[in-house]
Amino acid sequence: MRASQLHLPTLREAPRDAEVVSHALLVRAGFIRRVAAGIYSFLPLGVRVMEKIKTIIRQELGRAGAEEVLLPLVIPAELWQESNRWTEYGPELLRLNDRKGGEFCLGPTHEEAIVDLIRRDVRSYKQLPINLYQIQTKFRDEMRPRAGLMRGREFVMKDAYSFDADDESARTSYQAMFDAYGRIFSRMGLDFRPVEADTGNIGGKLSHEFQVLADSGEDAIVSCDHCDYAANVEMAGLPTPKAFEWAADAPASEVVDTPGQKTIEDVCSFLGADPSGAVKAVCYNADGEPLVAFVRGDREVNEVKVKRAAEAAILEIADGEWFAKATGLPPGYLGAMDAGKVNLLVDHEVAAMASAIIGANAVDKHRVGVIPARDLENVRWLDLRLAEAGDPCPRCGETDGGSLRTFRGIEVGHVFFLGTKYSESMQASFLDVNGKDKPFVMGCYGIGVSRILSAAVEQNNDERGINWPVAIAPAEVIIVGISRDEVGVELAQSLHDEFERRGVEVVLDDRKMRPGVKFKDAELIGFPLQITVGRKAAEGIVEVKVRSIGERQDMPVEGLVDRAVAAIVSARDGSALQL
Ligand code: ATP
Ligand code: MG
Repeated sequence: MRASQLHLPTLREAPRDAEVVSHALLVRAGFIRRVAAGIYSFLPLGVRVMEKIKTIIRQELGRAGAEEVLLPLVIPAELWQESNRWTEYGPELLRLNDRKGGEFCLGPTHEEAIVDLIRRDVRSYKQLPINLYQIQTKFRDEMRPRAGLMRGREFVMKDAYSFDADDESARTSYQAMFDAYGRIFSRMGLDFRPVEADTGNIGGKLSHEFQVLADSGEDAIVSCDHCDYAANVEMAGLPTPKAFEWAADAPASEVVDTPGQKTIEDVCSFLGADPSGAVKAVCYNADGEPLVAFVRGDREVNEVKVKRAAEAAILEIADGEWFAKATGLPPGYLGAMDAGKVNLLVDHEVAAMASAIIGANAVDKHRVGVIPARDLENVRWLDLRLAEAGDPCPRCGETDGGSLRTFRGIEVGHVFFLGTKYSESMQASFLDVNGKDKPFVMGCYGIGVSRILSAAVEQNNDERGINWPVAIAPAEVIIVGISRDEVGVELAQSLHDEFERRGVEVVLDDRKMRPGVKFKDAELIGFPLQITVGRKAAEGIVEVKVRSIGERQDMPVEGLVDRAVAAIVSARDGSALQL
């Protein structure tokens, strides 16, 4: 490929709305362009990377026994009404009408469409298992599209769906996909972790997210420093600490004045206490019912745990006025003693406190000297706190003393054991060995194809630009032609041709531009191997640089292509490029 014939519009300035480095670099380096919030065009470089990602996915899913299909983007409302998601999915679903007034949506995910396909054609257990996938554009009207391709409204996803005759076989399908995902992300050269994930409203137990480790990631994940436990922080259940054992003559709690002190920080500094000696109350609206979650003052509430405990479909932070009206209690001074009939959930750790400051359920008043294990009545004791670094590992903390570390991650894949949720609601069944009608047992498996571009760049960049892993780079080698004399021009051309002949993806930068501009572009776009043909071309010397290592080095042309091809080929499996 010749750069002079490619569309490589690089920019000096990052777009104004770029909050993360990958967004800035993908735009500046000419991979994507914004069209509207969360909606992007892919330029040729972006398409090249995306195609590589798709190829790896296709190869590994093929190995795992999945077959590719292509379902429609526009899906009739009736299918979504059958599963009840036409109402349940909420405003992320973009609905539209055709000219006859028929209702449709743009597919944000394709469980309904695939179940409809399978229930028409599959009648017998003999046709199972089946695993079908597609790579397609999805549309989700996200509330906050952000960070370029990271959270788009229109984005490319690989979604796969497995259909099995029973749970055991469905678990085998799940495991095959889990294993394939590991190979897929390794082959892309990404530093990732599979972590246990929340199963949301669908229920069931098996769900893993594949998280690319990056400080800018939206997800918090924890892993054990001793065993192989790793989970999305939402999922991290914590061991129950021992409740405080109070003395029979321990004094009763007292109510004290705390005028205008509503937050934990204010109350604690007013009373000269540490937040770990207070109890924090967070008020929620759980499907329209008021609910309060209490955790130790230096902790955060894990809302996924609250949602699960409340068995709520929708859990939102309560509006203060609404809450006060519904309960007669003053937000800001809420306590778990004498709160009346409100649903009170208290974290186990609170029971371990020897003495606590807690709201007194009256304006401008708190209680001090509360012994929660003694004084709290009519509450549910639960695991509600968000795991933090240093917390004991839920798997081995009590036996082997493992403790948790925290990371940030970008979710690039999700495998999910669905069970019969969709096959039951949409009446998709087959005849089993005994001729009995049974619902299919399903799994669904997503990969954020376009999000991977962002994730890979978040993980591989420096102040000069992107540093693509060879496996997904837009091209593997760039030859920067600097020399204007005939020998130099010919050498650059012959290196290019030789790489091409040997099946390496190579770009020859033959543009009539200053060397500085060419170098900057090569660095910004992030070709893994750069070869500069310059002043020493006549002596058979070129400059070689592995983008991820840094320094440019003089090297003889003699034998260079052999070495470079071998290095590139061995880095195509996701390992680092070493010359
Ligand atoms: P998130 O929690 O990030 O919203 P999700 O649980 O909604 O993700 P899934 O429905 O499991 O995501 O989608 C499968 C994959 O598609 C995700 O693992 C992610 O990589 C990708 N994905 C989801 N939403 C978006 C989006 N708005 N933009 C880009 N990729 C996305
Ligand atoms: Mg989502």
